[in-house]
Amino acid sequence: MRITFCGAAQTVTGSCHLVETEGLRILLDCGLFQGHKEVENRNRSAFPFKPAEIDVVLLSHAHLDHVGLIPRLVKEGFGGEVVTTPPTAEIAKVILTDSAHIQVEEASYRARKARRLGEEAPPPLYDVGDVLDSLDTFRRRVPYGKPLSLKNGAEVVFHDAGHILGSATIELRAEGKTLLFSGDLGNRHRPIVRDPSDPPRADVVLVESTYGNRRHRSIEESVAELKEAIDVVIGRGGNLLIPSFALERTQEVLYELFCLWQKQELPKCKIFLDSPLAIATTRIFARYPGYFDKEGREVFSHSPNPFRFPPLHYTQTTEESKRINALPEGNIIIAGSGMCTGGRIIHHLRHNLWREECGVAFVGYQARGTRGRAIVDGAKRVNIFGEETAVRAQICTVNGFSAHADQPILLDWLKKADPEHLFLVHGEEETLADFKQVISDTLHVDAQIAAWQQSVDV
Ligand code: ZN
Repeated sequence: MRITFCGAAQTVTGSCHLVETEGLRILLDCGLFQGHKEVENRNRSAFPFKPAEIDVVLLSHAHLDHVGLIPRLVKEGFGGEVVTTPPTAEIAKVILTDSAHIQVEEASYRARKARRLGEEAPPPLYDVGDVLDSLDTFRRRVPYGKPLSLKNGAEVVFHDAGHILGSATIELRAEGKTLLFSGDLGNRHRPIVRDPSDPPRADVVLVESTYGNRRHRSIEESVAELKEAIDVVIGRGGNLLIPSFALERTQEVLYELFCLWQKQELPKCKIFLDSPLAIATTRIFARYPGYFDKEGREVFSHSPNPFRFPPLHYTQTTEESKRINALPEGNIIIAGSGMCTGGRIIHHLRHNLWREECGVAFVGYQARGTRGRAIVDGAKRVNIFGEETAVRAQICTVNGFSAHADQPILLDWLKKADPEHLFLVHGEEETLADFKQVISDTLHVDAQIAAWQQSVDV
């Protein structure tokens, strides 16, 4: 069995690993690189394999950094099938369509800029037509725990990774060996999703390392922090912005706001979900209550619907979104993108970031090089629409909402998987080094830090 790390190696985006086993070429994920320009340029590098020779893509979940290059793969000749869970297939459709719109928009912006310089800009990575073609390859949807036969006796089982709705850890059995790919592993005791399921014993493990050197605060503490930010900011008449990932984080924040409202602990305010993508994903959540944890199922089985309670307003159109800024302050505005790299949150930052009475509550991971990371790291000014804007609003980071396992959860999971060969993927360099050391000290396993385009035989 040969593994080639085609992405998410010493970085947290572009998840993609090629597994070559007897007569079968399998991709584990095919995600988009995001962040620094240098990292994003990898989206245009030639794949280190021939797309037409790939038999199957096993997709762990529908985050863009795991699914976002599938349309390019199909465009370049992939004729096999994508296998994933039912919610992931549905969410992927929404996420990829949104990504195509962004690609086309950015490409036309770059083209206009380039023309003025007498140059040419690269075309979009893919458009909506390419996405529709790629969705035709999502032929088989498998629920958790049900083995599925691939070619030549190979078999795959998806286990609940507890990261986002439909997310999976992938168990691949071939050549008498078990390879386990963690996908993105979830945190415990989170709203809506279940805890990550225990892994099977495996010979080879590829484990994500996003928070391999961190311990999260508990979700209760985080909800208390969020509530405090709401009380303080709304109490003094400001707006509270919540830059949020459209998928999972938004639904968790809505769920917690609903619970506060139900307990009459939410101050009088309006909540705007200002993201067409988040509105679309929220609707998919409502269709899969069977995938929720016990508490989530209970809450969702009663009315009112936690995604449709009186203070909550969905703003679908750009006009509705712009009207929010003309309203009297004292609102909670949830908008994307989660790392403030684009989307409607940018115009809300322009209106609110320089105001002392306002606040920004970050509820998700902020990757290096993003505007969100700069604000969290204490930048006094940030560039918004080409204009320097002062950061005077109250900045609050709420870490416990993390959708990623922290160090104790990862170690516990690895102990159960008990691998002979262990590769660390999906982490930033410093974290990987710390995590490798901790694994060596506590589990006495020599983990290897995967390098981009490196191949290993196991
Ligand atoms: Zn993810």
